[in-house]
Amino acid sequence: MPPPADLKDLTPAEIEQYCSLTLGLRPGAGSRTAALLYRHRIEDLGSMTSLSRRIREVLTPSCTISRIVVERIEESSDGTRKLLYRLHDGNAVEGVLIPGRDRLTLCISTQVGCASGCLFCLTGGAGLVRNLSHAEIVNQVFAATALAGPDRISNLVLMGTGEPLSNYDRVRRFITTATDHSGLAFSTKRVTISTCGLAPMIERLADDDVPASLAVSLNATTDEVRDRIMPVNKVYPIEQLIGSLRYYAAKSGRTVTIEYVLFKGVNDSLEDAHRLIRLLKDLPSMVNLLLFNPFPGAPFDRPDAESVAVFRDVLVRNKIIVVVRRSRGRDISAACGQLRARQQAAPK
Ligand code: SF4
Repeated sequence: MPPPADLKDLTPAEIEQYCSLTLGLRPGAGSRTAALLYRHRIEDLGSMTSLSRRIREVLTPSCTISRIVVERIEESSDGTRKLLYRLHDGNAVEGVLIPGRDRLTLCISTQVGCASGCLFCLTGGAGLVRNLSHAEIVNQVFAATALAGPDRISNLVLMGTGEPLSNYDRVRRFITTATDHSGLAFSTKRVTISTCGLAPMIERLADDDVPASLAVSLNATTDEVRDRIMPVNKVYPIEQLIGSLRYYAAKSGRTVTIEYVLFKGVNDSLEDAHRLIRLLKDLPSMVNLLLFNPFPGAPFDRPDAESVAVFRDVLVRNKIIVVVRRSRGRDISAACGQLRARQQAAPK
């Protein structure tokens, strides 16, 4: 007997295929099961009472439905909640629930640790442990929804622990599950993949027509600086990265979000602002300016408000769409990797 299939490891289309081809159920039984699981969030086969008893009798010995545990929650004074999920093998990843005026965004992890080594990120310093499965990514949405309440989470960003495009196939399948009408049914405009800049994979997103928005952490305007703060730049330098974004924007018809974290005295000069304008010329894009959220031992400082305003104004005067993002959850160390690092450092 093959081991039971975890239904959360399958996209809605894969559940339909599994039910009809492997279990011999009638066409449509799998789609209904997927909708009950993903849309109605019923995580127990016995409670799927709108399925016939015969279907449930076939599914029950053949399938499981996994869950993950939220082990710790920290709430910021601004309402941001940081979650620590414990995985079946003892590893942990993080999520963040970020309330906005008209939205509630869940930040999702895609790997345990990360190989990208960004100098401003605690996760990057610890290296990659492993990729998350489709089920482990999906389960973050289920666990966060149980905390936030049904239909409260409006936006998903794949911006937590890990580099999503290094776990490409599972992330692509998760995006299908997240946006399918028999799946989690999020609007494709409300699901965003954030990458540190794996240029060939950005082009693949466009080739595969993955139905999500794209955000890219640029954070520097010269290869010299970007090589230093984001080692991925030594493999895919700025010119190649921007070329891949032009390809993506042309093929997908989507606008790209450029994330630019300002580090005092490193990438926040007027020259940087003007180089950024030149890099983004004719690229359908908008810029999110973020102020570095320092952590103990961080090699960078947060810029002052005045230099941020000057940087922003130069971009605006040159017709770049730019938003200065507030740091959320500063009092709970909501930046990537901080809760997990603290948990690992805590005495047992
Ligand atoms: Fe990895 Fe993202 Fe951290 Fe860079 S910022 S090391 S890509 S988790």
